Amino acid sequence: MSHETALALRARLNAGETTSEEVVRPLLERARSLERLNIFIHLDPERILDQARAIDAQRKAGAPLGPLAGVPVAIKDVLCVEGEPTTCGSRMLRTFRSPYDATVIARLKAAGAVRFGKTNMDEYAMGSSTENSAYGPTLNPWDESRVPGGSSGGSAAAVAAGVAPLALGSDTGGSIRQPAAFCGVVGLKPTYGRVSRYGLIAYASSLDQVGPFAHDLADTALLLGVIAGRDPHDSTSVDERVPDYLGTLDLPPESLRIGVVREFFGDGLDAEVAGAVQEAIKVYEQAGATIREVSLPHSKYGIPAYYIVAPAECSSNLARYDGTTYGHRAEDFSPRHPGEEDLAPMVRMMMASRAEGFGAEVKRRIMLGTFALSAGYADQYYNKALQVRRKIRGDFDAAFREVDVLLGPISPTPAFKLGERTADPLAMYLSDIYTITANLAGIPGISIPCGLTREKLPIGLQLLAAPFAEEKLLRTARVFERATDWHLRRPGLV
Ligand code: GLN
Repeated sequence: MSHETALALRARLNAGETTSEEVVRPLLERARSLERLNIFIHLDPERILDQARAIDAQRKAGAPLGPLAGVPVAIKDVLCVEGEPTTCGSRMLRTFRSPYDATVIARLKAAGAVRFGKTNMDEYAMGSSTENSAYGPTLNPWDESRVPGGSSGGSAAAVAAGVAPLALGSDTGGSIRQPAAFCGVVGLKPTYGRVSRYGLIAYASSLDQVGPFAHDLADTALLLGVIAGRDPHDSTSVDERVPDYLGTLDLPPESLRIGVVREFFGDGLDAEVAGAVQEAIKVYEQAGATIREVSLPHSKYGIPAYYIVAPAECSSNLARYDGTTYGHRAEDFSPRHPGEEDLAPMVRMMMASRAEGFGAEVKRRIMLGTFALSAGYADQYYNKALQVRRKIRGDFDAAFREVDVLLGPISPTPAFKLGERTADPLAMYLSDIYTITANLAGIPGISIPCGLTREKLPIGLQLLAAPFAEEKLLRTARVFERATDWHLRRPGLV
């Protein structure tokens, strides 16, 4: 069954009604028949079948099994998997094979999951549509003329298309939540520090987090529970107890005070998206929630602050791709421009490797970040952006003294057409206007399906909570999921 949840699958596996191999085969078949969607950068059927058979053998031998034993999980190609290709959507890493596992991958392995392919993404996770991938865009399973969102577009599409019940993505400014909304699945960005970033290829290290995609909240809770927790390899991961997210999911929230974010309903918000979110507010009212309007006055500075902080960090993180240690190395580095004859061949090699290996958006961000950090400008741009960031966090801290959860849309519009925003970086950046502040503040956020437009495009509802309140976030989201059936809608793929 293509859209079966991970928990349903697990129940059938545990009951001995099926094997992981029997689960995985039709999914590989489905992935092949949907190749036109370009969901995967890398999919090795033999390797996947080997993993499934290994788990089946362990089960047969009566070995103790992990919570995801035999369950397929698609992996965004930003995560390192030992011995397997990890391209990060870039030409730079086209032939790179990671020598080690990211901690989240090690945890998936320990949980018995079958790692089901590496999914397509915007190059180095920079983008909102997956069109910045060096391997071509992913198509939205609901409407193949539209983008799936980004940067984790392949992971969101994998779940929406019923190719894998679970997927991992990463969210630096919205890259889990926005594609989840565009593809009609659940996507959760954990608190900064909740999940290890070890082996997650760095884009903006103070913002990046790994998180789950799933059909529903129970599966989301299951996968979050597997990947969350302190990791000695990542000093920014926090030693906070990991609650039993799945076990507590159906407990009613202790209190249900919901703040509707005034600034998330401004100009540019699509009427159908606004309407669906208003309906969601009514659902919460009927469930007995107290609803009040809340203001986050510094939200309007979110996009400008993010587009200083993220490129600044990216310009530093991406300095390592210079053709010397790993990644693309230019073969021809003869002088290309006047004056280059005087440069050492080594320097020309680095310049040519970067010129060939990186795409246009990555180069734009490296230049923006280098400029914002340069002597004489750092105070004006980078340090100012950090001050704004603290103000944004202050707005959230104040709001969470009054309410349990904040509510709003994920993105101003539903999935847009392929090519519609590629020529206009600012229009592309604005699709993250409601998601970016959570990353700047480090707080957890979730997208859950809350409607369909007249054209049958999914709409996502955003809920945000205080740091490390993922349990509350999930339980509050579950109140909505229980009262509605949006999470059961599927694209009419053939
Ligand atoms: N769209 C945003 C960007 O381009 C966020 C990307 C992300 O969350 N990785 O930077």
